[in-house]
Amino acid sequence: MAEIRVPLMDLKPQTRALKAELLEAFSRVLDNTAFCLGPEVAAFEEEFAAYCGTSCAVGVNSGTSALHVALRAVGVGPGDDVVTTPFTFVATSWAICYCGARPVYADIRPDTFTLDPERVAAALTPRTKAILPVHLYGQPCDLEPLLDLARRHGLPLIEDAAQAHGAQYRGRPVGAWGTVGCFSFYPGKNLGACGEGGAAVTSDRALAEELRLLRCHCETERYRSKAVGYNYRMEGLQAAALRIKLKRLNEWTARRRELAARYDRLLAGSAVRTPAVGADRTHVYHLYVVRHERRDELAEFLAARGIGTGKHYPLALHRQEAFAGLGLGEGRFPEAEAAAREVLCLPLYPELSDEQADEVAAAICEWSASRG
Ligand SMILES: *Cc1c(COP(=O)(O)O)cnc(C)c1O
Repeated sequence: MAEIRVPLMDLKPQTRALKAELLEAFSRVLDNTAFCLGPEVAAFEEEFAAYCGTSCAVGVNSGTSALHVALRAVGVGPGDDVVTTPFTFVATSWAICYCGARPVYADIRPDTFTLDPERVAAALTPRTKAILPVHLYGQPCDLEPLLDLARRHGLPLIEDAAQAHGAQYRGRPVGAWGTVGCFSFYPGKNLGACGEGGAAVTSDRALAEELRLLRCHCETERYRSKAVGYNYRMEGLQAAALRIKLKRLNEWTARRRELAARYDRLLAGSAVRTPAVGADRTHVYHLYVVRHERRDELAEFLAARGIGTGKHYPLALHRQEAFAGLGLGEGRFPEAEAAAREVLCLPLYPELSDEQADEVAAAICEWSASRG
């Protein structure tokens, strides 16, 4: 294996650049000892809600937890169905299972890899209690038709925005469109903590209160729980780091978009299909994903040149062993299955240089040419 010269992602440059500022913020938390929730979390919640254009944000300990409390808050429980995508990170479906509910999949659109609203409509039944789309790779899903469906059927729509901080649909940030928007601050996400973190955002104050209860044992007062709750509190140290990074997020997103445009331009004549972006949307490129029938071969070719790639995600959720009980065989969601076979993520993070991106694109063009 060649030495990796252009990694898929590298957290070190960003962390190094912010190290002094992070240490100062951590020191503040060490002094006030507000390790779980506390003033840093409250301040971050206010700042993140403003960023999303919602009135409330509730900080939790992961994106998975955000999805779980969001579904619980809108009343999803045992025996319910939640319509969602089979082509995403598995945590989207975990949250449904944690509620005792069942994921019901609808296939994706082959161009944007996000839920196909027509297939969602066909998947709704009287048991459906919520719709859970994902803004995959940083591109907003087709929100308007999905929200329209949700409204007509009286269903909450929960957005999995774990990969899409700051992405916009019709000029308005994702997370603010649905009943609740869920974000992850896992270190590799566009806004990443120095550890685990997540948030659920909403403009419904009663719902926000419910989310706050759920993240902390459902305690209405100390040692009085009104229902089964969780220990999903956000940590003060993570909030302190996130407040520093949130100030840079727009600048980092602009750089991601600049690099994506560069790839788009350089790969235009190559064998791979570059990302399609729907009208009225801005893509924040958590991942820059190309498509080719022989992506494994391309991945090996790039690895031999020291270029890292990723396959997000190589197995659709209905084909995971964990979901064998759903009885959904191969061929059930052909678009998701084809995407799982054909997608390849290229190196992209704000500190990637133009020269590195050029090197990746040149290697892909060389591979394309060598294959006729
Ligand atoms: C990362 C991610 C999650 C889970 O977030 P964690 O913070 O890792 O729990 C959920 N959904 C999607 C689409 C993700 O990318």
